[in-house]
Amino acid sequence: MSVTVVGSLNEDVLVAVGRLPGRGETVIGRSAVLAPGGKGANQAAAAGELGPGVHMVGRVGQDPAGDRQLAALAGSRVNVSRVHRTPGVPTGSATIPVEEGSGENLIVVVPGANAALTPEDADVESVRRARVVLLQLETPLETVTAAARAASGTVVLTPAPPQPLPAELREHVDVLVPNEHELAHLAGVEPGERAPAEVAALARSVVSCAVVVTLGARGALIVPPEGQPLLQAPPPVTAVDTTGAGDCFCGALAQALATDPDLPAAVRFAVTAAALSTTGPGARGALPGVDAVRGLLP
Ligand code: ADP
Repeated sequence: MSVTVVGSLNEDVLVAVGRLPGRGETVIGRSAVLAPGGKGANQAAAAGELGPGVHMVGRVGQDPAGDRQLAALAGSRVNVSRVHRTPGVPTGSATIPVEEGSGENLIVVVPGANAALTPEDADVESVRRARVVLLQLETPLETVTAAARAASGTVVLTPAPPQPLPAELREHVDVLVPNEHELAHLAGVEPGERAPAEVAALARSVVSCAVVVTLGARGALIVPPEGQPLLQAPPPVTAVDTTGAGDCFCGALAQALATDPDLPAAVRFAVTAAALSTTGPGARGALPGVDAVRGLLP
């Protein structure tokens, strides 16, 4: 296996509304669409679309939503033999009213089976032997830490949703990939757009490993433990939906690092893949294949 993702699988319920409801208010939605989601599964799907050898470790319920998440991942060439079914617990879900026009949303996540993923589930061959292990924080912290501890390859962590990182987890992470908001949260400062030098200083205040900060349309900033930070801009694209762009970035970064440990080259690949993913709807509606990404690389 080249990339193993340990993380969440959710069913997203996307509800189109004329305007978002206020507290205690009922609004009538125009439509409700089910879509596969969860940061872990989104990252695995992105990596699977870009190359072979991607494994997912996770949990879903014994319910139709769980069937749909497994089928969706398998459709992106992800090996799901380590995604366990948890009886009596629903598959994780995210209910997301999206306001038409503004695109503003609200998100209510029910972790469901994701909360039942144990450290034992993560201490398996497909984690121990993967070239890259991709982690996020939508499953229990002790499980994420166990996966990082078990890994012999490169450990890449997206600190989302942001929360304090236990010392042992920090120790085992090789590349931290926050967006600007997550970095600000980890550093305990106000979120907001900052100049690259300031972003680099924040990143170095948070961890001592390499950090790649994703900066939306500005691309991504590579902050090595020492030396100059390097900004990698995306190719020009017409972005229509940036949902899940960060997850596509991480899946692509992992797939690139699995074949070549050169971080700037991997970030160039990831920035290009993530930019392409914004040209279609939803988190998985426009995941690019490897030829599309290579075609845009200089
Ligand atoms: P997240 O999805 O976690 O909020 P970002 O918004 O930083 O993360 O986006 C992740 C990556 O997706 C960026 O580093 C960039 O490569 C790509 N991306 C996001 N928005 C755009 C955009 N408008 N145009 C081109 N690339 C984009």
